[in-house]
Amino acid sequence: MKAEKITKLKGIGDKTAKLFEKLNISNIEDLISHYPYKYIEFTKEKPIFYYENENIEEKAVIKAKIAKSFINKYLSKYKITSTIIADSSASIDVIWYNSPFISNTLRLYKEYYFVGDIVYKNGKKILQHPTVYSIEEYEKLVGKLRPVYALTKGVSNNIMIKTISQAIDSLDEEDTYEYLPDFVLKEQALLPINEAIKKLHFPSNQKEFEAARKRIVFDEFFQFIYNTKLIKKNSINLKSRYKIEFSKNDYKELESILSFKLTSSQEKVIKEILNNMSSGYIMNRLIQGDVGCGKTVISIFAMFACFRNKYQSLIMVPTEVLAKQHYENLKKLFARLKNPPRVALLTGSLTKKQHLDVYKDLEEGKIDIVVGTNALITEKVKYKNLALVITDEQHRFGVRQRQSLALKGDYPHILVMSATPIPRTLAIILYGDMDISVVDIKPEGRLSIKNAVISKEDRQKAYKHIIKELEKGHQAYVICAMVEESENIEAQNVIDYSEILKEYIPSRYTISYLHGKMAQNKKDELMQDFADKKIDVLVATTVIEVGIDVKNATVMLIEDAQRFGLASLHQLRGRVGRSNIQSYCIFVRTSEKENAKKRLDIIGNSNDGFYIANEDMKLRGPGELFGMAQSGEFSFGLADIYTDAAVLKMTAKIVEKVFETDLSEEEEKRLHKKIEEISYKNYKKLIL
Ligand code: ADP
Ligand code: MG
Repeated sequence: MKAEKITKLKGIGDKTAKLFEKLNISNIEDLISHYPYKYIEFTKEKPIFYYENENIEEKAVIKAKIAKSFINKYLSKYKITSTIIADSSASIDVIWYNSPFISNTLRLYKEYYFVGDIVYKNGKKILQHPTVYSIEEYEKLVGKLRPVYALTKGVSNNIMIKTISQAIDSLDEEDTYEYLPDFVLKEQALLPINEAIKKLHFPSNQKEFEAARKRIVFDEFFQFIYNTKLIKKNSINLKSRYKIEFSKNDYKELESILSFKLTSSQEKVIKEILNNMSSGYIMNRLIQGDVGCGKTVISIFAMFACFRNKYQSLIMVPTEVLAKQHYENLKKLFARLKNPPRVALLTGSLTKKQHLDVYKDLEEGKIDIVVGTNALITEKVKYKNLALVITDEQHRFGVRQRQSLALKGDYPHILVMSATPIPRTLAIILYGDMDISVVDIKPEGRLSIKNAVISKEDRQKAYKHIIKELEKGHQAYVICAMVEESENIEAQNVIDYSEILKEYIPSRYTISYLHGKMAQNKKDELMQDFADKKIDVLVATTVIEVGIDVKNATVMLIEDAQRFGLASLHQLRGRVGRSNIQSYCIFVRTSEKENAKKRLDIIGNSNDGFYIANEDMKLRGPGELFGMAQSGEFSFGLADIYTDAAVLKMTAKIVEKVFETDLSEEEEKRLHKKIEEISYKNYKKLIL
């Protein structure tokens, strides 16, 4: 049943199914894994008097009598039904929109529960469009939790609840068979999976929710770690077809065209990689290093070594802008060689003809190094002799992609570069199938970025500071938060903001804006112009988050900084401070909330990604059940590697134990069936 399309469910036609697709939901299983992002508790009522207080923002729950006959007004666009309700403490006006039937269903002087928002209208507090419950109905609900889901236009929370509820009822035994060995279930006191699914969506209380979440989080980690271990077991000491020899002279040749001296950390990691690739065994290695520590050049050594052995390599990055930048840099660098490798770019925005040309050249071996986005892993791309696969800025990719890449060609060497600051204990678990190289020092002479967290009143001072930097011939980034609800608002935000900036910044400086909805060539053009210093101030959304390298940009201002996750802020900030010039990052805090202040203080006081991740983890704490901020790289459905770190570690131990335990034949069979299903599903998701 799980694999069936959601159109199998009652009330879901093709049209509604299309809407669900916007939420990446197409079959029953997707629907079931569309977990609530929060729950609303049906709370006990409060007297009307309580809500007369200025600062009440919570939803009102009122138990009151209808105190006045209904009035129906027909305005041009909508109908309004109004009345007054009263309890023993006070009375309040109520209105409903387009619901004239209310006046027939509710009885004068009878008591009901009203749940809704209190708003100001014409200087008066009113209860706006409340949901009405009979006394018995509501009292049964008190204490229960109502799930709230991510939605899209045309799919209301009510529709979502009904659909998911139906989907859960439709599950059969085959969908929810138990695959965990008995001893694990007992030891961990885990709920049966079908029960956990039901209770996660529709818990009757906090306790049920916690038990359900525990099971699902455990499953997510278990499946991931188990799978990783299997990969490791099957790939360890796997002979490679690609034995890469790299002489001292080759090394020196490449070193001589660099515009800087390698750090000892870079040298160490390059050596680890070269040794690994010449060993005759397949390399599967992670390079972990904070933003700006110089991972790119390491990857260039690896690719160059493959080229010298007449093999191809590819480097995959998460955005087209970044792909373009890597491509240009590689071309420029290699142009200094006598016999440079042939480098190509492959991204989604190439024309059909360009695509076909690159495909052909790759297949015929006329390209040595290809840079691109995930366009590199469509089924159409064939390589002649792909020996090395590199993924950069892995935190945008999802780990599983590694596996599908490994399937391209004949098990090439794999190199993953990540700036996600994961504490070592967790990295060992999450990258269980890889060796880890750490780049732990930054290039010499780097000044650490100076940070300031300011409130909105101090914006003008910040602008003055930006102007000061511009006067020195430097450039600036201004980052506006993405607006999820609407693509148009996102664009409008950066456009409006650049207009405002123009009032403060002298007109001799060029201000341009960049947002995610622009055509790719426009984005590329803007980034190029910024790199060429034709633009002084770039107002952008987080499209520039990863990788972009413009050394002359020395100041970044981040608006509404509290709206970003700390990991994103750290990544963003990594766009400045990329040379020996002093750089600055200004975080504008537009919220007075305690938590916003604390979080921004963390980033304002440190440039150390690991420290920030750790503090963030402490601040959110395991108690924060709805921690929405996923770490990006490891985005599990429900689990969060930071807040659930303790469970993650415990699960790793249990997986270890499962590997060592003699399971019954039946247990073994079920477990492997499940793991195979999961791998297949992930593989299907990846192949474009
Ligand atoms: P990241 O690790 O974030 O990918 P990059 O590879 O983009 O970092 O490097 C950041 C900047 O530092 C680049 O401009 C790069 O040219 C420069 N860089 C890298 N290594 C060194 C070095 N050893 N000395 C000086 N500058 C370096
Ligand atoms: Mg990088």
